Amino acid sequence: MVTAIGGPRILLRQLRETMAEPLGSQERLDKIVDLIAENMRADVCSFYVLRDDSALELFATHGLKPESVHVTTLRLGEGLVGLIAAEAEPLRLTNAPAHPAFAYRPETGEDPYSSFLGVPVLRAGNTLGVLVVQNAEQRIYGEDETEALLTTATILAEMISTSDFDALIKPGSDIDLRRPRTFEGAAFSEGIALGKVVLHDPRVVVTNFVADDTDAEKARLESALRTMQVSIDDMLNSGDMQIASDHRDILESYRMFAHDRGWARRLGEAIDSGLTAEAAVERVQNDTRARMMRQTDPYLRDRLHDLDDLANRLLRILTGNGAGAHGKDMPENAILVARNMGPAELLEYDRTRLRAVVLEDGAATAHVAIVARSVGLVAVGQTNNIVSVCEDGDEIIVDGFTGAVHVRPSPDLEAIYIDKVRLSAKRRAHYAALKDKVPVTRDGVRISLLHNSGLLADMDAIEETGADGFGLFRTELQFMIASKMPRITEQIELYSDAMRRAGGRPIVFRLLDIGGDKVIPYMRSMAEENPAMGWRSLRLALDRPGLLRTQVRALLQAAAGRPLKLLVPMVTETVEFMKVKRFIMREVERLVRLGASVPETLEIGAMIEVPSLLFELDALLPETDFVSIGSNDLIQFLTAADRANPRVSRSYDAIGRPRLRALKTIVDAAREHQRPLTMCGELAGRPIEALALLSVGMTRLSMGASSIGPVKEMILGVDLGPIREAMDAYLEGPGDGTQARAMLTELAAAQRLTF
Ligand code: PEP
Ligand code: MG
Repeated sequence: MVTAIGGPRILLRQLRETMAEPLGSQERLDKIVDLIAENMRADVCSFYVLRDDSALELFATHGLKPESVHVTTLRLGEGLVGLIAAEAEPLRLTNAPAHPAFAYRPETGEDPYSSFLGVPVLRAGNTLGVLVVQNAEQRIYGEDETEALLTTATILAEMISTSDFDALIKPGSDIDLRRPRTFEGAAFSEGIALGKVVLHDPRVVVTNFVADDTDAEKARLESALRTMQVSIDDMLNSGDMQIASDHRDILESYRMFAHDRGWARRLGEAIDSGLTAEAAVERVQNDTRARMMRQTDPYLRDRLHDLDDLANRLLRILTGNGAGAHGKDMPENAILVARNMGPAELLEYDRTRLRAVVLEDGAATAHVAIVARSVGLVAVGQTNNIVSVCEDGDEIIVDGFTGAVHVRPSPDLEAIYIDKVRLSAKRRAHYAALKDKVPVTRDGVRISLLHNSGLLADMDAIEETGADGFGLFRTELQFMIASKMPRITEQIELYSDAMRRAGGRPIVFRLLDIGGDKVIPYMRSMAEENPAMGWRSLRLALDRPGLLRTQVRALLQAAAGRPLKLLVPMVTETVEFMKVKRFIMREVERLVRLGASVPETLEIGAMIEVPSLLFELDALLPETDFVSIGSNDLIQFLTAADRANPRVSRSYDAIGRPRLRALKTIVDAAREHQRPLTMCGELAGRPIEALALLSVGMTRLSMGASSIGPVKEMILGVDLGPIREAMDAYLEGPGDGTQARAMLTELAAAQRLTF
C-alpha cells in the first residue's frame, strides 16, 4: 500500500495557508487539488461542485485534462461521482471501470486510472460536491485516507458556502446550496408572509478548522464532553425531572449518546486527522445529518435528530455560543423555522417582528398551531427537512393558505407573492367590511359567531370582526408563558383586564386545561405513556384543588358585580362536573360569608370532548347552564387518532358520518334540554366544516379571529334549509360514510358558494 506523504495534518496546514493567500477562487482550487494529489500520492485529484440544475460540474483537477474543467458534468446519480453525491457516502474501489455505475467521459482522459476514492462534500447533511482521488495502479485506499479526504472535504464545504463561485460556474447556473427550494407542507394558520429566516435553534458557525495542537484539541473535546454529560445528568436528576414526559425521553436518549464511546471515538479520529474539536464535531454531525435525511423509519430518524441536537449542544460548549434564538437580534420580518416547538417557546419571541412560523413537524390542532393562529401569525407545518436547507437571513415566503414554503425564492415568484399579499389585504378589507353585517343565512337562521382567545394581545381583534363575544378563553395560555405560577393577584388583574377588553360582550373563561401537550414549564408533571389520555385538565385540577381554588377565587373576584361564565374542560362523567360545580359554589358562599361582592350572575358550563359523555347527556345537561363541544379532543378520541400526529389525524375526515352523527346527538339533546350549545374546536373555523356544523343544527360557532370573515361570508350566502335536509338524509341513510365533504362541496357550489 502506498502511504501518503506527510499525512493529513500536514495537508490541512498547507490548505490553511492556501486559504490565506491572496488568490482568485479558481487559482486557489487548482492549488488545493495539486496539494491533495501530492499529499496522497494520487495521480488524479478532482473536485466537482453540485449546481442548482442537479449537475455536478468539474471545478478543478490535477491529472485529468485541464480542458475538461467547467466542461465535464455528471448528473446526480450518474457515474461514480453522481452516485457518491446522491448517497452522500464515500466510495473506495480498486477497479473503478468495472463498477456498474462507472460512466466514461472521453474528454477527461481518465482511461488509465483504475483505483478510485471519492467522498461527498457535505454541509448540514446536504451534498454540495464530490472530491475524488485516482491512481493508475490497482491500489487499496486505506481507512485513514478516506478519513483524510473527508476532513479535506469539510474545509472545501466551507469554501463553497463562503466563496463567490458564481463567476466560475456555467453562466446561468448557481451552486446547489443557494438553490431555491419549495416545501409542500400543511397550512396551520392563514395568511402570506415574506421575510427572513430565523432559525429557532441557530446553527453554530465553525470558523476555525485546522488544529495547531491536536493534543490540546483532544483535551478541549474531552472537557466539553464531560461538561455536557454532567449537564444532562443534572437535568435528569433534578427535582423537576422526576417525570417520564417526552422531554425526559429525549434527555435519556441524549444521555445514551453522550456516554457513547463510539461517538466519542469518531470525534477523536476526526481530530487526529488535523481538525479542531469543533470542526471534528461538525464533520461527524454531517454524516449524522446525511443519514437522517435518508432515513425513512420515523423512530430511527428521531434518534438521529436527537444525536444532531446533541452535536449542537457540544458545538455551543466548544465555541461558547449561547443556545436559542430568543435573545438574538431579529430582523423586521422574521420567519421562525424550527423542527418543532411548544406554544410557550413560540410566545417567548418578540411578536412585533415575527411574521410566520414554519415547523418540520406539528399538526393543525397542536397547541403551537392554535397559539400561532391566536396571535395572528402565519403558520405552516410538516415541511420535512426544511431546517437543514435554511440559513439565518435567507429570504423565505410562507403561504399559509396552501401550505407551500419557498426558501430563497426567485424574483418572479417573489413578485407573484407580493401580488398575492395585495390580494389578501384586499380580502381582509373585504372581510372587514362585513364587520357590521349580522350573520344570518339567506333563509333567516341567525348564527352567533364568537372568538377563541387566551391572550390579552389577541382580544382586541374583536373590534375588527364584529363577533358577538368570546366563546372560549383558554386561561392556561397565560400560565404557559409565565416563568412561574401566576399569583392570585396577577390572575385577578388578568381576568379583569380580559373582561374590560371584552367591552361588555360575553366571555367564557375555561378553567385551567393543562397537561397533554400544554406543558407548564415550572410545574412538575407525572410519568405518562399516553399524556393526551392521562393526568391532564380537569383530572389534574381535581387532584390539585389548591391550583383550582386559586383560579376560581381570582375569577370570582375579578367578576364582582358582573356576569361570569365558567367552562369546565375534559369532563368525562357527570359526577365530575357536579364536583367542580359544588367546589365553585362553596367559593361563592365563602365570599358571601365574608361580605365580599360576588358576580352578578354565574353560569357554569361543561365541555363535551370526551366521548363517554355522549352516553349520559340526559344526566349532564340539566346540571349545566351551557355546553361547548371541543372538537379537537372529541374527534381525536372518537377516531383514536392523536390530534398532534398528522400521520394518523389526517387519515379520518373530521366530518365523516360517524363524527357528524355524534355531533347531531349532542345538538338534539341540547335542544331538548334547552341548553345553549357552542362549537369551540378548530372545526368551527373552516367554512366547509362550519357548514357541516350548521347542517347538523349548530348555531353558535367559536373560532380564531382570522376565521370569522370567511365563515361569516359563507353564512351570508347560504340557503341552509336544503342543505340541512340533504344532511339529515345522509346521516340516516346507508352507503358510504366518507362522502359528507364531497356532498357539502357540491351543494355549496350549486348555491354559488366557493371556499
Ligand atoms: C378542543 O379540544 O377542541 C378544545 C377547544 O380545547 P383544546 O384545543 O384547548 O384542547
Ligand atoms: Mg380540548
